[in-house]
Amino acid sequence: MRKPFIAGNWKMNNTREAAKALVNALVPLVADVETVEMAVAPTFTCLQDVAELLRGTRIELSAQNISYAAKGAYTGEISADMLKDVGCTHAIIGHSERRQFFGETDEGVARRVRAALDNDIVPIVCIGESLAERESGKTFDVVLGQLVNGLASVKREEAARVVVAYEPVWAIGTGKTATPDQAQEVHAAIRAKLNELFGAEVGEAMRIQYGGSVKASNAKELLGQKDIDGALVGGASLVAEDFAAIIKAAI
Ligand code: PEP
Repeated sequence: MRKPFIAGNWKMNNTREAAKALVNALVPLVADVETVEMAVAPTFTCLQDVAELLRGTRIELSAQNISYAAKGAYTGEISADMLKDVGCTHAIIGHSERRQFFGETDEGVARRVRAALDNDIVPIVCIGESLAERESGKTFDVVLGQLVNGLASVKREEAARVVVAYEPVWAIGTGKTATPDQAQEVHAAIRAKLNELFGAEVGEAMRIQYGGSVKASNAKELLGQKDIDGALVGGASLVAEDFAAIIKAAI
């Protein structure tokens, strides 16, 4: 059985005080949740404060990005070592906003995944098609291409640690959610490709999150799909009650 995994991507929101208030509101709401893995991904500047508040809770700490380099002359980057130092156990990699606005490529994703795995950080690898790609019938080519390229350096024995997040770009922050059938169709194709890449035993154990306007009102139906093992939540993770309701929909 795959344990559902709900992660909140705060994106570029919240200064430290707001971040602390959000975590303080969230922690008691999900204190009794044992069967769902939970994480939040604050901005880099809030990681330290959030890490302190999460100590002793079941909520894990994720970064929103990770450098592929270990150290040195990489201005503006944050290494896996530094993330671990501050308490991160996870890192989101290849989010569509990174691909769209900051030139992130599949090759860069693969290098970041390598850096994460080499440092015991769980990579949450984001893949997804744009509206134009979906409308021109390229969804599966794009999504599976990003998957294969992004996981190019992952060995069979480490693949079970990787989390994949399918996030159709047209559904992110737009209020348009993929229907449960649309999402499941792509998740099933991702699962089949993971089985092909790493063998069925490993592929069936890997978690595939759905992301794209997940809300308390649509979470249960999405999470009820066979190959949807959790959610990567943007906007709704900024409101403690809404994020807690999504987590509880996964129980
Ligand atoms: C995301 O940022 O990964 C995301 C899915 O955002 P939203 O839930 O706001 O669509």
